[in-house]
Order: sequence, then C-alpha cells, then structure tokens
Amino acid sequence: MKFGGTSMAGTERIRRVANIVRAQAARGDQVAVVVSAMAGETDRLVNFCREANPLYDPAEYDVVVASGEQVTSGLLALTLQALGCKSRSWLGWQLPVNTIEAHAKARIESIDSEALIASMEAGEIAVIPGFQGLSEDNRVTTLGRGGSDTSAVAVAAAIKADRCDIYTDVDGVYTTDPRIVAKAKKQKAVTYEEMLELASVGAKVLQTRSVGLAMKEKVRVQVLSSFIGEGAPPADDLPGTMIVSDEEMDELVEKGLMERQLVTGIAHDKNEAKVILTRVPDRPGAVANIFEPLAAASINVDMIIQNVGRDKGETDVTFTVPQSDLARAQALLEDRRDAIGFNRIITDSKIAKISVVGVGMKSHAGVASSMFRALSDRGINIQAISTSEIKISVMIDEDETELAVRVLHTAYGLDAKD
Ligand code: ADP
Ligand code: ASP
Ligand code: MG
Repeated sequence: MKFGGTSMAGTERIRRVANIVRAQAARGDQVAVVVSAMAGETDRLVNFCREANPLYDPAEYDVVVASGEQVTSGLLALTLQALGCKSRSWLGWQLPVNTIEAHAKARIESIDSEALIASMEAGEIAVIPGFQGLSEDNRVTTLGRGGSDTSAVAVAAAIKADRCDIYTDVDGVYTTDPRIVAKAKKQKAVTYEEMLELASVGAKVLQTRSVGLAMKEKVRVQVLSSFIGEGAPPADDLPGTMIVSDEEMDELVEKGLMERQLVTGIAHDKNEAKVILTRVPDRPGAVANIFEPLAAASINVDMIIQNVGRDKGETDVTFTVPQSDLARAQALLEDRRDAIGFNRIITDSKIAKISVVGVGMKSHAGVASSMFRALSDRGINIQAISTSEIKISVMIDEDETELAVRVLHTAYGLDAKD
C-alpha cells in the first residue's frame, strides 16, 4: 500500500491512513506500506537547499529532501501502534534500498527484503519511506520527484506482493487530469503501455519509472483514493483503476467490462521549454554537434524539428528541453556557437505539450488529423509535433493548455455523460 503526500498531510490524515492499513491487515493480509512526505514538504525542503547554496551538491540535497519521508514513516508507525497494531519503520538505508546512478535521480538496483519479510511474517506492519535509497558508497539518495510510486512498486516486486495499491487524492486514472476537465472519466483499467506513455507525457498520477518497473516485474498496480469514508469497502473490492496487460485488457473487453477505445487519455506538460537555433548549416553532422553536448550533460531533449533548408544551405532547428535545464542548455550551446555555427538562440518557456495516448492508434488512421482540426477550430496554433506508435504530442502556447485539453477531450468523445 502506498500513500501519497496529500494522504499523509498532517496527523489527522495519517490517522485515516492508519485505519485503512489496519482494515487491510485485519483481513489477514501481510502489509508493507510505502509513504510520501506530507504534501508541500518536499518543495519546502528543495527551497531550503536553493537558499543555502544555489549550486547545491546533489548528495547533500538528498540528505535534506529525504527527511520528509522519514518523518511520515515514523508517524505512521506510531499511529498504527496507537491503534493497537504491531508496526515498525524501515528507512532506505536500513533495508537497504540499494540505488545506482546520480544523486537526486537515483535508480533502484535491488532491495534486501529478508529482514522485511521476516518482520512481516512475525505480524508487524512494515512502514517504508518512499523516495529514498542508499548509494554504493553508503550515502542517502533520492529517486527524483514523485519517486515514492517507484519505491512502492520496487518493494512490491521485492516481496512478491499480490498487489501494489497506490492510494492518492483521486480515485483512479482518468481520461485526463480530473482537476482540469470536470467531465473526465475514470477508467476501470489501463494497459501498462498506455500508462507508461501517459505518465511520460505528464499525467503525474504515477511516476513514469514506477510504471516501467511494474511492467517489467509484472507487479499488479491499482490506483485508488485514500479519501474514503470509514465504512468504505476494502481495497480488494474498491473500484480503483487496475493497470493491466494487453491480454487482460482483451479479456475485459470481451466480457463487456471495458469498451475498446481509440484514445485512452490526454495529458499535458508545462515543464518543457522551447529552444530555436537559427541559421544552422544544413550539412551532415550539424545536428549531432547540437545534441551531443546536451546528451553529455544529461539534458533530455524531447521534441525536435529541423526545418527545410533555405537557399543558402542554412536551416533552423527547434527542440524542447526541461525548463529546469534550460539555462544550462543555453550556456552549453553558447559555448559552442562557433563549432555548431548558428546565428541566434531563441528560447521560450511559455509553451505546453499536449499529448493524446491510446493503443487504438496502432490500427486506426485519422487520430492525428482530428487532433489538428479540433485545435485549429479553436484557433490554437501548433508549434511542433511528435509521435510514437500510441501517442501524438503537440507543442502550443502555455496559456492555451486548459482549453486544448478540454477541446480534445470532447473531440475524441471522452466526456462523461452526466
Ligand atoms: P500523490 O501525492 O498521491 O503521489 P500526485 O499529486 O503525485 O499524488 O498525483 C495525483 C494527481 O495526479 C491528481 O490529483 C491529479 O490532479 C493528477 N492527474 C494528472 N493526470 C491524471 C489522470 N489522467 N488521472 C488521474 N489523476 C491525474
Ligand atoms: N516526496 C517526494 C516528492 O514530492 C516523493 C513523492 O511524493 O513521491 O517528489
Ligand atoms: Mg505522486
């Protein structure tokens, strides 16, 4: 069972969580719980790091930001004890959760689960702070924002859990962010592949890595709400959203429990920035010269467009990078202005990426064209396009984000009937 920030925000909410956990354990289940920091706490801690030193050392940043989860895991164990349950916390370094790669974006390599399983078998409810791990050189690491989802799936895989229930502040995965579109519909089931794509293009209900890991390790993941009444049915019977394999989805459709749909969901992402390099030489190696230094600096480039070359053998190259990396990307490119041979760098952070996702696209034509038509009918200009087998993304002006999501939701027939 994993509980996110809003579910853990304050002792009153934690008591509610403890009751949900106790009810699950009372059904005879052995339970491990993964918790997030209280809502807003990680942001607060990140700000302290920035104030202390704008060029902060990621290893010390990890020491600071991992503390939010330490507090909530201890508080949940205490609250469970107050309800008469046996419970203890297991910090990332105590299990340990072994991680590799960079601080602030570490990856879980393995979890030593022997002691954890022994304690669960002895009737203790295990409470594990999400988001944190231990590096190869014995230092605290964190997994990147939203990383508690990944901690939960990794723990579930390590202890071979029957299920990984992700409790959050919405009662499932919707056709789009229900906070933006009131008519968003809850999905009974979403395939791993679709959820992976939706998460990677901005549907923050699950961290992308958690979905990839669940797919690889075949962990059954359910998304459901912790904001339920005292008398609510246990998670086994709650109508959350199950993340399922393609085969399971086919079965659900055959049984009439799910409709086969062309588009499963629409997501938006306001965290990217656009970079245009003008008058880049139109010859072999030119784009490699642009993207190699960005790759070497671990800056992820998403959408890329190279315009048709002009007469003078020059072309403009447009691409997107995360807003948080924009300043670094700009500095790297400026440094290589002569080697790359561009004229100007133009940047814009006021853009958004809107994506439409669905496996139905693999076998149906026209999904992209209806997207472009629906947006143009509302006067929304498309600045860039990118596609994958099951996704189409467009870049638009940030101010038009909500409108675009709503228009597309209606255009694909996803609005809930009231
Ligand atoms: P937690 O703190 O529990 O991890 P998050 O804030 O990370 O919660 O994720 C839950 C939020 O994800 C919801 O409040 C909702 O606004 C947002 N969200 C975005 N897209 C979707 C979607 N397609 N379905 C459900 N929620 C979504
Ligand atoms: N507390 C961390 C964050 O806000 C991890 C999480 O909540 O998933 O990013
Ligand atoms: Mg989250």
